[in-house]
Amino acid sequence: MQIDIISVFPEYFDVTGLSLLGKAQEKGLVTIKAHNLRDWTHDVHHSVDSTPVGGGAGMVMKPEVWAECLDDLLGLDPANLTMPSDGEATAQPDAEADAGQSNRNTVEAGQEHVNPSVEDGPVLIFPNPSAPLFTQADATALSHADRLVFGCGRYEGYDARIPTYYRSQGIDVREYSIGDYVLNGGEVAVSVMLEAITRLLPGFMGNPESIVQESYTGDEPLLEYRQYTRPTTWRGLGVPEILTSGDHGKVDRFRRDEAIRRTSRIRPDLVARMDCSSLDKQDRRL
Ligand code: SAM
Repeated sequence: MQIDIISVFPEYFDVTGLSLLGKAQEKGLVTIKAHNLRDWTHDVHHSVDSTPVGGGAGMVMKPEVWAECLDDLLGLDPANLTMPSDGEATAQPDAEADAGQSNRNTVEAGQEHVNPSVEDGPVLIFPNPSAPLFTQADATALSHADRLVFGCGRYEGYDARIPTYYRSQGIDVREYSIGDYVLNGGEVAVSVMLEAITRLLPGFMGNPESIVQESYTGDEPLLEYRQYTRPTTWRGLGVPEILTSGDHGKVDRFRRDEAIRRTSRIRPDLVARMDCSSLDKQDRRL
């Protein structure tokens, strides 16, 4: 997988050389390159932002500099590009823009992700706090892409026409929020998505089993049961006795019960989305 990241602070991504992600790059599973957006500016101040149309506080990232950078990285020749008609180029109302998010259906903005699958070609991803939430299902789908290009917003964000324009050029463009809070820039959000995606690449984990039974994973996106290690008594606290019984069937049942109970209590929204036909008799009792 090839990953390009565009940022005004590319140094943020120096840490991708560490730990398991560093090893994955050494093994050739993934290449990560961080680019400085200012390298595509032409003015003496290398400016990437301007005041918001319509007024208001802060600055907005300019589309021209993003387009030069993206055309370059995506290998698009601006001379051969189809120019969207005025109507298409104008920023769309939210509902229309959400519908334009490739391969994605939103039941309610930011909630249900029905089909996040990836087709051939690069996927262009912009972190955005006002976009649908990034989930494990998105990470799984994106781990099958050959190429990801991430664009980190700053200031009040990027000009809304940038994703609209690249969608109109046939690029799979996605915008994701990593949670209901606002960060200073997209760098941390990209780091989160990058890690969630790359750890799913075949060969990334020493033991591939460790990503099979995890929270949010699989057809039943439950929270994981609680985990313990030795000693079995620590500072007066024991572990559930059944886990030391050696009876794997009972241990599996105990863990599944716990996963269902915890998910119902902590994340009832996940249970509400579960396909109940996958529940067995014992599950239904809970
Ligand atoms: N004015 C924007 C708003 O209120 O929605 C916030 C812009 S934020 C200060 C600047 C950039 O940080 C965004 O363009 C985005 O790239 C990134 N960002 C901030 N919070 C984020 C979140 N929760 N998820 C994803 N990206 C986020």
